[in-house]
Amino acid sequence: ALQAGIVGLPNVGKSTLFNAVSNSAKAQASNYRFCTIEPNVGLVDVPDERLNKLTELVVPNRTVPTQMEIVDIAGLVKGASKGEGLGNKFLGNIREVDAIIHVIRCFEDENVLREEGAINPLSDKEIIDTELQLKDLESVEKKMQRVEKMARVGTDAKAKAEFEVLTRCKEHLEKGKGIFSLGLSKEEKTAVADLFLLTDKPVLYVANVDEASMHTGNKFSQILIDGVKGEGAEVIVMCNNIEAQIAEMESPDDKQMFMEEYKMTEPALNRLIRSAYKLLNLDTYFTAGVQEVRAWTIHKGWKAPQAAGVIHSDFEKGFIKAEVIAYDDFVKFGSEAAARDNGRLRIEGKEYLVKDGDIMHFRFNV
Ligand code: GDP
Repeated sequence: ALQAGIVGLPNVGKSTLFNAVSNSAKAQASNYRFCTIEPNVGLVDVPDERLNKLTELVVPNRTVPTQMEIVDIAGLVKGASKGEGLGNKFLGNIREVDAIIHVIRCFEDENVLREEGAINPLSDKEIIDTELQLKDLESVEKKMQRVEKMARVGTDAKAKAEFEVLTRCKEHLEKGKGIFSLGLSKEEKTAVADLFLLTDKPVLYVANVDEASMHTGNKFSQILIDGVKGEGAEVIVMCNNIEAQIAEMESPDDKQMFMEEYKMTEPALNRLIRSAYKLLNLDTYFTAGVQEVRAWTIHKGWKAPQAAGVIHSDFEKGFIKAEVIAYDDFVKFGSEAAARDNGRLRIEGKEYLVKDGDIMHFRFNV
């Protein structure tokens, strides 16, 4: 499964957030299935209003959300790129994730140690960014040395092209920018694919604010929002302490009461997970039967057989066709039968590009 990794300086609230994630995952797991979770990997349900709506309409025996993985990557400190602390190990963990959740401390609390002096969201962000960029610069320069000769002397067109891309990467990193924002084409990316660059991943920020500011934000979260505007990255303002408390509660009634007290309509964690899912560039389709209403994760641009393969590889191998109802049509007519009667059930073939929200039923040979 695709993973989003939580990074940030020490004492900003990462493990508090991760605990909230894994506690809520455990609560979910007891309902219908196990999830094997490593100490620092949590498998979480992706909250989706559409799944609730379909459940209301179909009234199935069970409802199964789709999931994604969240990884806690602790231990990133200033100097990590030079191997300080366990720097290299943590940077290695970042290589494996597909998107980054960067937690930034936006709360004041003299009881929570802070090495960098007064609260400063932008300089905190820069410390982490710089470590990642330095490490990438090292990888890029190493590869440049390898291909330089071939690019210079030979007639090796591939090496020439690679060297050109690497040079652009180097210049970009030296300006203090991450590779993701360089906007390399798919073709250009092959030149750096083997480097698994740390800054070539989409990022979202969590502004971890104090309890009192969770609905309004505070001056620190505002500084962060203004500071990252140019990146086009999303900033989620939330209070990780509160989220951890909600996730710890076992009874849904207690949860509900607690949230009402804090004037919350849902845990902020839900917002975070939905945004992280979007960041991974994923879509969801549904299957809706009386046994089970279920959400399935696919990548944008997948065709029907590939989407069917998420359920079972036999569905992909033996794919014949798919019956498809768009989500809005399903809701408008209220059932599969009614959608069919109104001509809204389409029969699609192997080339069909599955759309986010499609309700699918596959026909296949065994
Ligand atoms: P990490 O080092 O980034 O994993 O940080 P932790 O999650 O361990 O948090 C460090 C300390 O900050 C803990 O004592 C938390 O209780 C505290 N903390 C985390 N979030 C908040 C918050 O929103 N407000 C306040 N006041 N303290 C928080």
